[in-house]
Order: sequence, then structure tokens, then C-alpha cells
Amino acid sequence: MSVTESTENYDILVVGSGEAGKCLAWTTTAEGHRTAVVERKLIGGSCPNVACLPSKNIIHSAKVRSFTRRAAEFGVELESAATNMKGVQARKRAMVEDLRQLHLDRYQASGAELIMSEARFVCERSVDVEAADGCKRRIRGERVFLDLGTYATVPDVPGLAAARPMTHVELLDLDRLPEDLIVIGGGFVALELAQAVRRFGARVTVIEYGPQLASREDADVAAAILDLFRDEGITVHLRTRIRRVDGESGRDVLVITDGPDGECVIDGTDLLVGVGRTPNTGGIGLERAGVKLTDTGYIVVDERLATTAAGVWAMGECAGSPHFTHVAFDDFRVVHDNLHGGSSTTTGRLLAYCLYTDPELARVGCNETQAGHRGIGYRPHPADGCRSANQDAVRAAWIHEDADRRGQRRDPRIHRVRDRSQRTHGRRPDGNDRPHPVHGTAQCDIRPPHGSRRTHFPTEGTPRTHPRSTLIL
Ligand SMILES: Cc1cc2nc3c(=O)[nH]c(=O)nc-3n(C[C@H](O)[C@H](O)[C@H](O)COP(=O)(O)OP(=O)(O)OC[C@H]3O[C@@H](n4cnc5c(N)ncnc54)[C@H](O)[C@@H]3O)c2cc1C
Repeated sequence: MSVTESTENYDILVVGSGEAGKCLAWTTTAEGHRTAVVERKLIGGSCPNVACLPSKNIIHSAKVRSFTRRAAEFGVELESAATNMKGVQARKRAMVEDLRQLHLDRYQASGAELIMSEARFVCERSVDVEAADGCKRRIRGERVFLDLGTYATVPDVPGLAAARPMTHVELLDLDRLPEDLIVIGGGFVALELAQAVRRFGARVTVIEYGPQLASREDADVAAAILDLFRDEGITVHLRTRIRRVDGESGRDVLVITDGPDGECVIDGTDLLVGVGRTPNTGGIGLERAGVKLTDTGYIVVDERLATTAAGVWAMGECAGSPHFTHVAFDDFRVVHDNLHGGSSTTTGRLLAYCLYTDPELARVGCNETQAGHRGIGYRPHPADGCRSANQDAVRAAWIHEDADRRGQRRDPRIHRVRDRSQRTHGRRPDGNDRPHPVHGTAQCDIRPPHGSRRTHFPTEGTPRTHPRSTLIL
């Protein structure tokens, strides 16, 4: 088979159909540009298929399971309750399938051409693609937009790769409950999944190299998360380095560690790795397109997300933007605005950071530690005598959790977010009672303290981005 002789020319070529890529494609097509999107596997990108939405769907099932365990506290008599992972998966898979169809419908309605293939660059602004039936094409874009995303990093530790650890992709598709899960890493993804699996009834051990969970959060916030995890029966090892792994995930694994108490052997049945991400930039000929990469493989971009190649932009995680769907969406806004003569940049944008443990944690902009490092003056938020925004968030979350424990929701801050979400998104349009996950908007309602010079709260208007997650309405 050979590549068809002629190159097909498009106004816009998007590689990767994640949040930024698909939004750009649908928008430019509506504006009259001939647009092609090349996607190798996940229609709509990671978020609806293997990341945000499936994880939040499963986290919600885990929450329901945790309620059933405490049913008597709410005055509910249950004869028995058990986790049925096949049922959990059926619910999640139905949602993912709905979302996949929704994306396909949207592509069809928009007129943007979706090409299912891996794209490989052959020269400037030109890629080769190969459809499932073996048909090869060469596509050239007048303008090219890269939204390639990242994948879970498996660190180079003796025995780890051979143990065939799960990443979030496999864990979120597991039809069985691991008996004894060892989680390597204490970042956002690892924490969300560790708690959910624990709530389904597994034993869970988290191993974190650093001195605290959620390494980028303030120490008091991390301490609150640690308390929460220990309270739920999750074993956490901090300041612990993994020396070697023996065995195979899904059967028996041994993780040999060095920690504050010396060598330790942690045994389990399953292994999950959640230690970071690697950009999907290798082996696809980006060098032939003149697109330079950083030492860590991210695409070099300027503040308008332009790459080192003329007429090529990068968006989302592959461009080194913070790893959130709402940030990828903002990248789309920056690029799109500039296509129309605007002057948007990514410089100094105010971002929302969200951790969807239960209770959830969120902050907008930098935290106290980061403000300290950057020499930014801030004043503690006075709400309810709390010392900081983070503490306020922790406290609000705890109130939320505490209210849940009591079967009530009394805290007005919780009501504000809930009411706004429900007004914004409403219930399922078809009136179906089945809980339906939607990407929702939760907007921080905290204002800067009166008269403060500079704070880590939004000082001018509202945040640029809104956290996006699954709200079960
Ligand atoms: C478990 C988990 C939970 C998360 N939860 C949240 C959350 O609750 N809220 C939140 O805001 N963020 C969350 N995130 C992060 C969020 O999923 C990402 O930041 C977001 O999806 C943006 O991704 P992206 O557009 O950069 O890339 P992606 O969505 O990964 O899109 C990149 C696409 O490019 C395709 N691709 C790559 N290379 C090629 C190629 N050569 N040819 C063709 N196609 C290619 C890939 O198949 C993929 O579909 C979560 C992440 C994980 C892992």
C-alpha cells in the first residue's frame, strides 16, 4: 500500500481530539474553515474516555458504597450491601458510550472531518494517516494545532515494568475489586483513585516519596488529606522510596521500600502507578515539522501557544499547560482569540485547582506556600475565623462531609455551589431519574479581604477557568 499521490489540503489540521482540539475544530468549522481532526483512539480525548469523567463516575459509586456501610447512622436498615464491580463498570461504560456518541454526533453536526488514525509528521504541517482499512492519506494543514495529551509515567524502578502495574486507564476499567491495592504516588490522580478503591472495600496502601501527600498543596491541607485517608483505613507511607518490585499486579506483588524506619516490604495483590505524566510527543516526527521539545518532551510554546514551527500551535497538556480539562479549554480560547487578531496569552492566568477526593478540595490561583515563594503578599481570609483560603476550603469540605455524616447539608457555602450548579445545568433533560454525570461549573465564591493589597484570591473579576468535574445532579 502506498500513500495516495496527492496531498489533501485543509485550512485547519488538528492532531488529537482532546478538549482544546475538538473545541477548536468545531469552532473553526462553524466559521467556514475546512477542518480535519486526526485522533488515534479516544474520541473526545482522555477526559470523557479514561480520565475525568470515568473517574468521577466511579468515585461517585464509591461514595454510595461508603454510605451503605454507614446506613444505620442515617437511620436506614440494610439487610446487606456489597460491591459489585461489574455493576460499577456497567454504569461507567454506559456513560462513556453516551459521551462517545455525543462527540460523534457533534462532529457530524459540525462538519469537521474526524479521521481515526495516528498522525505522523512527514514535513512541515503535513501528516500521514492510515485508516483501519489500511487506506493511507497525506493531510496538510494551512494551520496546524497539536493537542496530543500525555500518558501515565511508569518510573524506572527495578521490577516495576515487569510487574505490569495498572495505570488509571486499567484501574478505571477493572471488573473486579482488588483485594489489596498498593498505590505508588500521592498526587491528585493517585489520591482520588486510592480513596475510591478503599471505599469499595479493598485494603489500600499509598506510597509517597515526598514528605506529604498532594505535594503542591500547603502542608496544612496535605495534613488534612492524610488525616482523612487514615480515618478511612488507608495506610500511607510518606518519605518512602521504592527500591524494587517483585511479582505481578493482579496476582501477588511485593514492593520493597526505604522509608523513615528503614527497609520495609509491602505486599499486595495489585499495583497502581500514579506518579506523573509523559507527553505523547515521541516517535511521531515532530522534528520533521520543526516543532521543538523541552528536555522533558513537552512542546516548546510561547505565551500565545505558538510552537517553534510557523503556523503550528500546541494546546493542553502536551504544551506543558497545567493538567486540567478547564485549562485545556482555556488554551483553546487563547489560540482562537489570536486567530481573530486578539492578544490573549497564557501569562498570569488565574487557574482553579481541584482534587476530587471526597470531600473535595479546591483553590483558585496560588496557595500560601507558592505566594510565599513568589514574594506575593496575602492576608488570611477572615471567613469564620479561618486562617487561609486553603483552610477555608478544607473546613468547608469538612463541614460538607460532616453534614453528610448527619444526613444534612447546612453550610450555606455548600448550598451556593450546589444551587448554582443546578441552575446552570439542570437535571437530565429526558427526566430520567438515573443520576447523570455532567461537566459542571463550580465557581469560587470567596472574595478578597477588604482592602488587601494582593491576595491569592481572584482580585479582578472572576477566575479565567472554572473547575470541571462530574456533578451528579
Ligand atoms: C484519572 C484522571 C482524572 C482526571 N480528572 C480530572 C478532573 O476531574 N478535572 C480536570 O479538569 N482534569 C482531570 N484530569 C486531567 C484531564 O483529563 C486532562 O488535563 C484533559 O483531558 C486535557 O487533556 P489534553 O487535551 O491535553 O489531552 P487529551 O484529552 O489526552 O487528548 C489528546 C488526544 O490526542 C490523541 N493523540 C495523541 N497523539 C496522537 C497522534 N500522534 N495522532 C492522533 N492522535 C493522537 C490521544 O489519543 C488523545 O485522545 C484527569 C486526568 C486523569 C488521568
